[in-house]
Amino acid sequence: MDKYLSAPITTLSGVGESRRKAYAKLGIYTVRDLIYHFPRAFEHRGHIRPLASIENGEKCACILTVSSEPRISRVKRGMSLLKFKTFEDSENGDGGICEITFFNQDYLRNTFPIGSVFRFYGKVEKKGNRYAMSSPAFEPYTEGKSLPPLYPVYPLTEGLSGKMISTHISQVLASAMSRIQDPLPEEIRLREGLYALPFALRQIHAPDSFEALHHAKRRLAFDEFFRFALGLATVGRTPRRNGAPICSVPDMTEFYGALPYTLTADQQQVVAEIAKDMASSTAMSRMLVGDVGCGKTVCAAAAMYIAIRSGRQAALMAPTGILASQHAADLIPLFEKMGIRGALLTGNTTPAQRKKIYAALTHPNPTERLDFVVGTQALLSEGVSFIAPGLVITDEQHRFGVNQRAALSEKNAHAHLLVMSATPIPRSLALVLYGDLDVSRIREMPPGRQKVDTFVVDESYRPRLDAFIRKNVNEGGQVYVVCPAIEEKSEDEEDLIPLWADFEEISKKGSDSHGEDTSTHAAVQVAEELSVRLADVAVSVVHGKMKPSEKDAIMGDFSDGKIDVLVSTTVIEVGVNVPNACLMIVENAERFGLSQLHQLRGRVGRGQRKSYCVLVRGGGGEAAKARLEVMRTTYDGYTIAEQDLIQRGPGDFLASSGTRSIRQSGGFQLQAAEGFQDTDLMERAFSYARHILSSDPDLDDHPLLREDVANVFAHAGDIMN
Ligand code: ADP
Ligand code: MG
Repeated sequence: MDKYLSAPITTLSGVGESRRKAYAKLGIYTVRDLIYHFPRAFEHRGHIRPLASIENGEKCACILTVSSEPRISRVKRGMSLLKFKTFEDSENGDGGICEITFFNQDYLRNTFPIGSVFRFYGKVEKKGNRYAMSSPAFEPYTEGKSLPPLYPVYPLTEGLSGKMISTHISQVLASAMSRIQDPLPEEIRLREGLYALPFALRQIHAPDSFEALHHAKRRLAFDEFFRFALGLATVGRTPRRNGAPICSVPDMTEFYGALPYTLTADQQQVVAEIAKDMASSTAMSRMLVGDVGCGKTVCAAAAMYIAIRSGRQAALMAPTGILASQHAADLIPLFEKMGIRGALLTGNTTPAQRKKIYAALTHPNPTERLDFVVGTQALLSEGVSFIAPGLVITDEQHRFGVNQRAALSEKNAHAHLLVMSATPIPRSLALVLYGDLDVSRIREMPPGRQKVDTFVVDESYRPRLDAFIRKNVNEGGQVYVVCPAIEEKSEDEEDLIPLWADFEEISKKGSDSHGEDTSTHAAVQVAEELSVRLADVAVSVVHGKMKPSEKDAIMGDFSDGKIDVLVSTTVIEVGVNVPNACLMIVENAERFGLSQLHQLRGRVGRGQRKSYCVLVRGGGGEAAKARLEVMRTTYDGYTIAEQDLIQRGPGDFLASSGTRSIRQSGGFQLQAAEGFQDTDLMERAFSYARHILSSDPDLDDHPLLREDVANVFAHAGDIMN
C-alpha cells in the first residue's frame, strides 16, 4: 500500500493525540481507515425550499441574502449572540424574511456582509410569517454555480465533530486520491461497469448527484462483497484438522430409549451423517440447518452421546443465557439417567461454582469428571479447558460473529465441530459463509406440528387484538408480544437520507418519500399499556437492558405459566421453547426482516394449542404491507430467506443476523453494502472471488487484493488473538 495511506491518522494536519484517540474509538487508525469511513447518511442541502413552503421546525435548505449588518449582543456571562436579517429573492417580491442567529461565534461577524448570498441549511422556526434559523450550516452561493447537493453525515464519537471529520476527509481526498491503487482487476471492473476506485471514494464522501452516489455505492458494495468472499476463504477459515479423536458409534439403544419420542427420518439421517464424521480422525466440520422447532437439539444430544461413550467430553455453546439454561434443563436430566454428568456455565455462574466446574472438567478420574458442559460465551473464558475434548457444538450459529464462530473450536483444536442454525441461508450466500462446512438439513417437522395462521393487520385492529389476547389467555394459552428494539430516532435524524437508501430510486423520484417514521412501540411502554387495558391478565416485560439473571427469572416464570403475556424485545427470538404459547404478536412488524419474523413465528405452535401469529404494521405504507404479505402465504424458511435477501440485501446474513454491535464485534462491517439490494451484483462478486481463488488460493498473484483483504480482516484477527 502507498505509504501515505498506511500512515497513522496523525499525519493529517489537525489530528493530534486526543483526536487520534477519538478516531481509534471509531476503529480508525490510518489514513486509509479514514477514507473508508463512509458517511452514514446525507443532508439533502440541494433541495432548496421557498420559506413559504416550510412548516415550523422543518429542517431544510434556503438561499438567502444578508440584509442587515450582523450585530453582537451579550445576553449573559459567557453567552453572546450574533444576529442578522436575510431575505429571500423572489420574482414577484413576496419572498420571506429570515433572522439568523449564531451563539458564541463572534468570529463570524465579518463573514456575512450585507448583500452577500448564502445557502443556509438548518431547522427553520416559523412564527406567523416570520422565520428564524439558529446556527445553520452555510455556504456562499453564486447564481449559476452549483453547490454540492448532498452533505455527508458521519458516524461520530466523543471528541470528533462531523465538521472535523469532513475537514480531515477533504484533506485526504485532495492529497491521496491519485495514490490509491485499485486492487480490483481492471477486467472485472470494466465488465461490471463499475466506477474506478478513487472516483467512487470521492463520490461517496462528496457526491455530485444522487446518481453518482448510487454508482459509488455500487462500486464500493461490490468491493465489500468481493473482499468478504476472499477474506473468509483466505483468513477466516478453520482448516480441516487431522488428529481428531475417533469416536466410534456406540450402541444407541440406551440413548433412544431415554427419549419420549422417536426420531424423524430426517433426524435419523442427520445422526447417521454425524456419526460417520465422528468415527474419523479428520475432525468433523458440519453445519446442521433446520427451521425453528424441527428438533436440532436432539441431534446435538446424539452427537454428544457418541463423543461421551468414546470417553470424550462435549461442549455446547448457545448465544444467550436463557437458551443455555433451557438446553441444560433438557440435557442434564436426560443424560443423568444414563450416568452421564453435565453442568451449566453462563455469565451468572458464581465464582465458586465456576471453579468447581473448571476442576471437574479436568478431573483425572473419569468417574468424577464432567462429561459435558452447556453454556454461553462463558465457555470461551480462560479457565475452561477439557481433559479429553471430543465435540464442540454451537447453537444458533448465526447469532455469533465471524470470530466467535472459530473461537470455541480454536480452543479445542482437534475436537469435532457441529454448528447449528435455524436461519436458512440462501444458496448464493451459503457457499461463501459456510463453504468450509458440510451441511446437514432437517426439512420435516416432528409429528403433530401445526401451521401457525398468520395475519397482517394495522393499528385499527387494536381493540380486536386485545380481545383476542384475552380469549387465548382465558382458554389457558400464553402470548408473546414482540417489539422492535428501543431506538427512538432523534428529531435531527428525520430529514437525513441514510446511506442504505436506494439512491437510484431517489434520483428518479425525488427524495420526498424518505423519512417516514412512526413511533416505535417500545417494549416497556407496550407492556404498561397492555396491563392497563387487560387488567385481569398477567403481563410482564423482558428486554435487553435487563440483567441476565432478571431476564432468566422472567423467562422462567413465563415457561412455568405464571405469566400470561410476555412483552419483549427480540431477546426471545433465539430458541426458547414454551409449548403452551399459542399467540405471537409482533408490533411494528415492518421493522423486522422476514427471516426474523419467521423465527419469531416459530416460537408458537409448538404444543397442542391452535396457534396464531399477528403482524401489526405500524408504518411503511403499501411496500411494507406487500412485504409482510409474504409471511401470510409462506411457511418455508428457505423461500422466506430468499425473499429477505432480495428485499433487504445480504447484510443480515453476512454479518450475522444480529444487531450492529454484534456486527462490530464480528470485526467485519458492511458499509456501502448495508441494505444493498442488488443480489445479482453480490453473486457475481462472489463468483469472481471464487474464480480467482481457484487458481490462486492464497492470492500470491494478486498482492494488492491480498493486502486489501488483510486490511479489512486485520481487526477481526485482533479480537481472536
Ligand atoms: P430447534 O431445531 O429449533 O432447536 P428443538 O430441538 O428445540 O428445535 O425441538 C423443538 C421441540 O420438538 C422440542 O420440544 C423437542 O422435544 C421436540 N422434538 C424434537 N424431535 C422430535 C420428534 N422426533 N418427535 C417429537 N417431538 C420432537
Ligand atoms: Mg434450538
